[in-house]
Amino acid sequence: MATVENLATYAARIARAREVMAQEGLDYLVVGPSSDLFYLTGYDAHVSERLNLLIIGKNGETAMVVPVLEAPLYAGRESLAPTITWTETETPTHKVAEFIGDATGKTVGVANNLWASFLLRLQNHVPGAKWETGNEVMRTLRMTKDADEIEALTEVGRRTDAAWTAFVEGARITGLTESEAARKLGEYMEQQGLAWKGGIAASGPNSASPHHHTGDRVIQQGDAIVFDWGSSWKGYKSDITRTVFVGEPTEEFRRVYEIVKQANQAAFEAIKPGVACQEIDRAARKVISDAGYGEAFIHRTGHGLGLDGHEEPYMVEGNTLPLEVGMVFSDEPGIYLEGKFGVRIEDIVYCTEEGGVRFNEANRDLTVMD
Ligand code: ZN
Ligand code: ZN
Repeated sequence: MATVENLATYAARIARAREVMAQEGLDYLVVGPSSDLFYLTGYDAHVSERLNLLIIGKNGETAMVVPVLEAPLYAGRESLAPTITWTETETPTHKVAEFIGDATGKTVGVANNLWASFLLRLQNHVPGAKWETGNEVMRTLRMTKDADEIEALTEVGRRTDAAWTAFVEGARITGLTESEAARKLGEYMEQQGLAWKGGIAASGPNSASPHHHTGDRVIQQGDAIVFDWGSSWKGYKSDITRTVFVGEPTEEFRRVYEIVKQANQAAFEAIKPGVACQEIDRAARKVISDAGYGEAFIHRTGHGLGLDGHEEPYMVEGNTLPLEVGMVFSDEPGIYLEGKFGVRIEDIVYCTEEGGVRFNEANRDLTVMD
């Protein structure tokens, strides 16, 4: 049986979902296997052709539609949403229709990540309902983190930092391929109790490609290397980038590195409740543009993070959403010079009443490895 903890936390989140559903005019919210479902129930359901579906009604009714063979995985959570099981010869969307009853004039919000095949069947089997996105509800809940979430994010950040510090002090990377260097960093992550599922190691000219596919290029003297990686702890993600130089850094690398570091700091210092997300991007971009590298900063400054590696809010021009206490996101400006090198420095940060706090404190000074 799955371990069940913090049922009260999940019950409170479902109650809060109902409040936002009311504001959004939703009668029902349906949530398939996803980080949203995990957030609301702690149930890490299989993503497969067999339907698992949480249904939250605005009047207090809830149900968890589960394939009978997977019911044991959900056991212990029935107080959050009683189970409706279905067998291999039954049609689960008919069970959903029975639960909802006459749907005429009712609005059903659909959370992200429900397969289209399920939604199309629901739309057939629950006639009369109006279907809308349920993402407003989920993003509203998940964007601001509670104390337990902040604790998990603090812990995964601390362990990720410790792995980096040990890697920089202990590893020699000259002569390794990018894949081997990334794998070595993974060993230090595993020593911190963090699972390793790969990360970006972009060397030399490859470092100018922000999402480079780590490959077989051999690391050599004179390379800049962008390492961008993370893991998770209790479901909560870490995501950090550090750029190092192998051998004696060139003048240009030193100059660009310093600008990116200042941009990272400027974005960090701009964090305050009420400040629009786009202002965080502008703060970093101004430093880089003023230094003449505006064209070389080719992505937004940051993304939200929590149960997912990328989630709302996004620190991007055009996003006027005001920061709130508990919002968690990355601060990751970069400069990418095609054919030469790239530099990115990324920390995960969060917004408090007093301003920004970093989950990552691993050294941001120019670091040389051999
Ligand atoms: Zn990253
Ligand atoms: Zn990131």
